Order: sequence, then C-alpha cells, then structure tokens
Amino acid sequence: MNETIRRSDYRHRASKRRRQRFFHRLPLILIILLLFILLTVFCWLLGRHFLGKDSPPTMSSPIPSSTGEEPVRTESSTELEISTDPEPTMDPMVDELLDDADRIAAGYDYDRAIALLQDSKFYGSNSAVDEAIAEYEQIKSTLKPYDITQITHVFFHTLVMDESKAFDGDSDESGYNQVMTTKDEFLKILDAMYEKGYVLVRLHDMAELADGEDGTKMTRKAILLPEGKKPFVMSQDDVCYYEYMDGDGFATRMIIGEDGKPTCEMKMEDGSIQVGAFDLVPILEEYIQEHPDFSYKGARAVIAFTGYQGILGYRTAPSYSDSPTYEQDKEAAAAVAQCLRDNGWELASHSWGHRDLGTIPWDNFKADCDKWNNEVKSLIGPTDIILFPFGADVGDWHPYASDNERFRYLKNLGFSYFCNVDSSRFWVQVGDDFLRQGRRNLDGYRMWMDIAAGSDTSKRKLDDLFRAEDIFSPNRPTPVVWE
Ligand SMILES: [Zn+2]
Repeated sequence: MNETIRRSDYRHRASKRRRQRFFHRLPLILIILLLFILLTVFCWLLGRHFLGKDSPPTMSSPIPSSTGEEPVRTESSTELEISTDPEPTMDPMVDELLDDADRIAAGYDYDRAIALLQDSKFYGSNSAVDEAIAEYEQIKSTLKPYDITQITHVFFHTLVMDESKAFDGDSDESGYNQVMTTKDEFLKILDAMYEKGYVLVRLHDMAELADGEDGTKMTRKAILLPEGKKPFVMSQDDVCYYEYMDGDGFATRMIIGEDGKPTCEMKMEDGSIQVGAFDLVPILEEYIQEHPDFSYKGARAVIAFTGYQGILGYRTAPSYSDSPTYEQDKEAAAAVAQCLRDNGWELASHSWGHRDLGTIPWDNFKADCDKWNNEVKSLIGPTDIILFPFGADVGDWHPYASDNERFRYLKNLGFSYFCNVDSSRFWVQVGDDFLRQGRRNLDGYRMWMDIAAGSDTSKRKLDDLFRAEDIFSPNRPTPVVWE
C-alpha cells in the first residue's frame, strides 16, 4: 500500500512542477493577452481612420471582444515573440529538459541534474529551470554520507519463471527449492525493500582504488543519500543458464532487446522461443524504469559467470567448439556482456569450474583462475570483482595478509573486490588494496529457515529486508531441507 503511494510520489512531483511552471508563466501569458488586445484596438482604430468612417465605436472599453481579425493575429503573434522578454513561451523543450533533469535527480545524481540544466540554453533566462536548480541545490545540502561498512549485499541465482516446472518432483527439484528464488518472490522482495528505503548501489560506489601519497589504496567513497534511504548491493550468481536447467522453467539465454537493453529468451511449452523479462536482469531493468529512486546514479546488480558451460546461455567454453555456431555464440555473448556494462551492470568472476577456491589444491586453484581468465575474461573484458562459489573465501575473517598466496594470485589477475557468503546484516572489510563484503542468500532455504524460526528473532535473519512469510511461494515443497 505504502509502495503505491511512494511510486506515485515521483509522478506527483513532476505534475506539481508542471503546475508551478504554468503559474510562473502566468504573468507572461497576461502580458501577451494585453498586447493582443491593444493591437486589436489599434488596428481597429487604424482601419476606421483609413476608411474615413466616423461612426462611434461600439466598444469604447479596452476590454476585447472576440472579433479579432485573423491576419492581424498572425502578424501580432510573430511580433510578440520577438518583443517579449527572453523567457520562451510554452516551450515543450523546457518541459522535456526539466523531465530529464527530474529523472536524473530521482536517482540522487543532483550534480548531473544541475549540470544538465546549467548547460542548457534556458539557464538564467527561464525561471522554472532556475528554480529547479535551486531545488536540487537545496536537497543536495541535506544529504548525508552513509557508513559504507554497514551496507548489506543480497544475492540470487537464476530466477524460476515457471514454478510448476521447477517444482515438479524431478531430481533437480530439491536444488532449485533450496538455492533459487521465483519471479513472484523476487518482485515482492523488490517492493518490500523499496518500501523500506533501500537504494541499489555498485560495489564501486563503496570504495575504489585511488592513487595517493603512499601508493594506490582502496579508498572509501561517499554515498550521499537523503535521510531514511539505505544503500545495498545486489548480485546474481551463475548467469550461465546451465544445461541441466533446460525445460525446468528458466530463461534460456540473455540477448540484446530491440530497445538496446538486455533481455531474455525462453523456450516455451510448444517449443517456440519468446523474448521477455524472464530473469533478474530485465525484471530489475523494468523495475528501475518505474522506480528511478531505487537506483543510485544508475547502479545495477553484479552479474557473475563461471566458464565451464559458457556464459549467458551461450555455449562458449572450448568443449563446445564443434558447434557450427561456436564463433557466432562467442561474439553474441561478448556483445550482451558489453550491453550489460553499458547499462550499469557490474560483471564478475564466479570461478571457472564453480570450485571451492579456499580449499582446492594450489595447482587446481591456479588452473581454474587461468581458465577463467582465458575463456571468460577474454569475452567480457577485465573485471575486478570475484564472488566466491559456495562463499568459500581464500582467507578467514582477518584482513588478507600480504603472504596469502591465493589472495596475491587473484590480486595479480586484477581482482580487488572479494565477496563471500555471510548471513549477518552486513560484513564489510576495507583493506589496503581490497574490499571484502559478505553476501546474503535470499533463496528458498533462507526464507524457510526464517519461517521455521517463527517468533524467535535470534534465528530470523531477513526481517531487516522483509518478512519471509510475506514472500515465500505457496508452490514450494516444504520443509526446505539443506542437502
Ligand atoms: Zn554459484
């Protein structure tokens, strides 16, 4: 209920602004009207003079009747545009400009909204534009930097689109029930978090490597948000559409939509391929279009890939090189990855073979990292984020020591952001040259654990985000058991 009110808030503000704009122009409209009246009277007098008619005017008052002659009107209107002050009249370009600025400001990028208006030709000559700038400056002065060590990070796997197919009793059902989230659950989670004031940010908004006096260091950044707003990071693991998922109610691959944004393909019951919002990426894109204040400066989620069956639903691993479309698939996957980046998504490694990087033998560790580098990085471009499979970190909770050779190996491959899995509300560690963050699984198992905990708040882990009972799909088999 609250959510609907918030959702309308943005539109309400826009319509309020339009009303304000009308009232700003009211004096101008009156001046134009008055000039028009005077011109009409003048022309009428002129006409009477040249025609030599001496009959008394039927209307002695300056109040006009609606008898203005057409040609005079045309002439006067062009004349008026030149003679009035520099403020444009009823200019749809101003409306469009203010709407663009409003959308940018809704995403908390007040500097960019102000710059857009200041760089326009209306700056300094249009009161609505100048007032919008003043309003953004005012809001900006009230923003508070958020403590980046208190930022939560939630993650998902591929979303279940068709629950009847995922929860159909076959051998994959239990796995889906534990670690997947359904489309309806995901939408409810978005609404619940939006209502609580959560705002999506990038890992790179929290801290970034920066050159300073003592070399390159991971440096905290200021996330500036209005009071009551809470930043959070979102990620999605294994965005590969693995073979075992075929026919179980998931998207089949990601493509670039007609609007240039990432979207999905899904194979339907009758064998046809449909294009639509069949996974997290396009669903979140649509959600942010409707709720621009859910994303900080255009932030999207982190999308992580393994390599053993290729990425994004394209079979790009060398084991598929016999496929007649192998080269074509690699090109398509690379194009979709670029499209994701262009739209604000961050890309990440999830290891090549979905390995436990903390404990596998050293030689296997190196081989896996190198394979990801050669087969996935070569497609998606450089990335500095790694989301550990199983949450298995390459160190304990202490900051990474410089003699930690697995950390050093990953660091040399370009990684600076390391995410494990942790059920606490937030776990953030900013080291000299790295940032670590714990991630929380919002899946069937975690939600079921909250529901089973009942009113025992010490065992409920999701209440800061939503009540699991409000989200959990009634179509899931219960209890959800960890295997
Ligand atoms: Zn995984």
